[in-house]
Parts: sequence; structure tokens; C-alpha cells
Amino acid sequence: MRATDVHVHPPTRGLDGDAYRYFKRDPNALPKTDEDFASLYAGQDVKALLIGWHPSTVHEGARNSNDYVLGLAERHPQAFAGVLASLDMGEVNAHQRIAEAKKLAENPLVKGFKFHPPDQGFYPADRKHYELWEQLEASGKPVMFHTGFTVLGADSDGGKGIALDQGRPIHLDTLARDFPRMKIVAAHPGWPWVEELLGVATHKKNIFVDTSGYLAEQLPELFQRAIRGRLQDRALFGTDFPYVDIEKALVSFEKLDLKDNVKEKILLANARAVFHLE
Ligand SMILES: [Zn+2]
Repeated sequence: MRATDVHVHPPTRGLDGDAYRYFKRDPNALPKTDEDFASLYAGQDVKALLIGWHPSTVHEGARNSNDYVLGLAERHPQAFAGVLASLDMGEVNAHQRIAEAKKLAENPLVKGFKFHPPDQGFYPADRKHYELWEQLEASGKPVMFHTGFTVLGADSDGGKGIALDQGRPIHLDTLARDFPRMKIVAAHPGWPWVEELLGVATHKKNIFVDTSGYLAEQLPELFQRAIRGRLQDRALFGTDFPYVDIEKALVSFEKLDLKDNVKEKILLANARAVFHLE
């Protein structure tokens, strides 16, 4: 296997139009069926972790869901290593949410959880969610949080109700302090808080970073330096497919000019250790 891509959205459901326009992706170039999607990953010899979250900005078409991505992972084990499950942070009451988290964590295909605080409208370090984090910490499965800028709601009046502040890395610092055994994956380089993210991840050993949302050569310089150095054991290769293409991402990753052992860690070994993959 060449790599594990820890940050993948199915191109078949929950695709945000603003996002693929922002990334200048041609929707016709994206796989249209589950089978084409799986062959693309299997053909690259890369295994993906599929995210079960559906963006609040997408109202048309079938919804992306945990069940949907679990089905994909079950049917295409050669392409998908498992899923990062999502939880409803709005409507449902806390007890239901915790029961759902427990049920999901017992599924061996659920390798972790993924949250998008700005889109889901919550602060990760809000005390009212601590019982949920206790549950997830006890499950031993890593929890990924979107950080920084989001294309969702970008360039619209009021940002479609989305607050970037909820995606600031500093909130994960509080969470990592209060849940030291929880493995927290900060998704994306956290721009415009790249330094904040690097400060937080350098200080808290239970915080990991992923490279998603960018071609590697376009990652902020400071972030590139960090994953080459101090954070090389805690950096994970991710694309944010379909917004960033897997083939282009792999070509770009080679341009980072990393030592072979560091490359191997970021593409494979770190994800294997963090998410307990085979
Ligand atoms: Zn994403």
C-alpha cells in the first residue's frame, strides 16, 4: 500500500457546490458511482478513511450518513480502511448522542469520529459536551476536528451563519488538556491560525495534524517545516477528497522533499498507529 488518506468525503453524496468551485474541481471529473469511487482509490493503492458527515449547506440529493459510508467500507475493503463517524450536535439530546456514540464505537469499521465545529455550530471545549468526550476518550478511538477557514459559507453574506471562531485550534488545546488520553486530530493546517495550531500541537502530545485541504506544496511554509521536523510522528496524510484530488495530492506530496523515513511515517505509519489500522 502507498498511503492511507485519513480525510475523504464520498463524491457521491453531500457535495458542496461552493467548495468544489473554490477548489476549481470539475464535478464531471468526479466518480459518480460507489464502484468508480472505490476503483479510483484501489487503483492508486491508497486506502481511505471515509467521513460520515453531511454539510449543513447541502440540501439537495441523498444525505451522506454513517450508514452510507459504513456500507461503502464494508463492500470495498480494498479501497476503504474504515470510517470516521459523525454525530448530530444540534437537534438530538445529549443522552441520545452519547448512546449513538457508544454504539458506533463498538463497530470495528468505525476507526474514529469526525466533527466540523463551525458547520455544526458548537465549541469543542464547551463543558456541555464533556460527557460525550468522556465517552469517546474511553472508546480509545481518535476524534478529528475541522480547524481554521472553511469554504462552507465563504464569500456569502454572514457566511451562511457559520462562525470561524468555533474552528480555532486553541479550543482543541483546552480539550487536549482536559482529555489527555483522547487522540485529537486537527484537520487542515488551521489557516488563518497556522501558528496557533502548531503551538497547540507542539505543546499537547495527544494532538495530531493532517495535511488535507491543500496540495502538499501549497501548505503554509511553517506547517511544512513542522511536519518535516518536530511533528513528523504526528502528521497524517489526508486530501479532503473530492475537493482535492488523490492523484494530484500524491504527486504534490513527493515535491515536499522529505526524507524517506519521514515520508513513510506521514503516508502510512502514523495513521496506522493512531487509528489502529492493519
Ligand atoms: Zn473535509
